[in-house]
Amino acid sequence: MISYQEFSDNADRVRERLLRACDACGRKADEVRILPVTKFHPAEAVIYAHRYGFSSVGENRVQEAESKMPLCPPDIKWELIGHLQSNKAASVAEHGFYRVQSADSEKILKKLNGALVLRRPNSENLRVLLQINAGADPAKFGADLSGAAALLEYALGSCPRLEVDGLMTIAPLDEDLDVAERCFENLRKCAEALRERFGVPLPELSMGMSADMERAVRQGATVIRIGTALFGEREAPQQH
Ligand SMILES: *Cc1c(COP(=O)(O)O)cnc(C)c1O
Repeated sequence: MISYQEFSDNADRVRERLLRACDACGRKADEVRILPVTKFHPAEAVIYAHRYGFSSVGENRVQEAESKMPLCPPDIKWELIGHLQSNKAASVAEHGFYRVQSADSEKILKKLNGALVLRRPNSENLRVLLQINAGADPAKFGADLSGAAALLEYALGSCPRLEVDGLMTIAPLDEDLDVAERCFENLRKCAEALRERFGVPLPELSMGMSADMERAVRQGATVIRIGTALFGEREAPQQH
């Protein structure tokens, strides 16, 4: 694990990149939030992020997040960004995740809504983003672009304990950043079409990671999920 000083320098650099990216396309820097991705790093990574002033972190596995939660400041918000198996929905409801960015099927929406009813009957609803496979990548989870409307319709009509904040996507892994940017553009257009059709705000677009954040900002990202550029390389192999 890197030192706090190194982390803090990295965070300054990521914020600088974000500022420049916003400048380049005429957006305001406060329109885009950096979500530090702490997966595969120890709880210190979350503590660093909190100390620097970040209010949320992203984790891609329920169990890993749960093991860190007791070691971390209670006011940090946990966002799940990795594929959720339906047998983990109850855990998500119980452990006070703030948001699930990886709601990628009707099945998981149904499980999450049911788990909220049972396990969090009198507390806040769970916020979700619908994960859309906007790059049509066979290696990624998420609804197809053509299935996004049906997924939103199901969430709005059948899941009263879930609040849909917007959409999330993971770009295909490709050295050519134009591939990522096309994926982000698809997600932005998908959100625009859904807002029009359903009359809901869907303010959040979670897209862009360490390598492609500038392209995501250009296409309207409101949340960029940054791991490597903040915490350095991860030990374990990456899985989406
Ligand atoms: C790991 C991960 C990230 C962070 O990726 P970096 O390239 O390390 O910034 C972002 N989003 C998701 C869904 C991830 O799994």
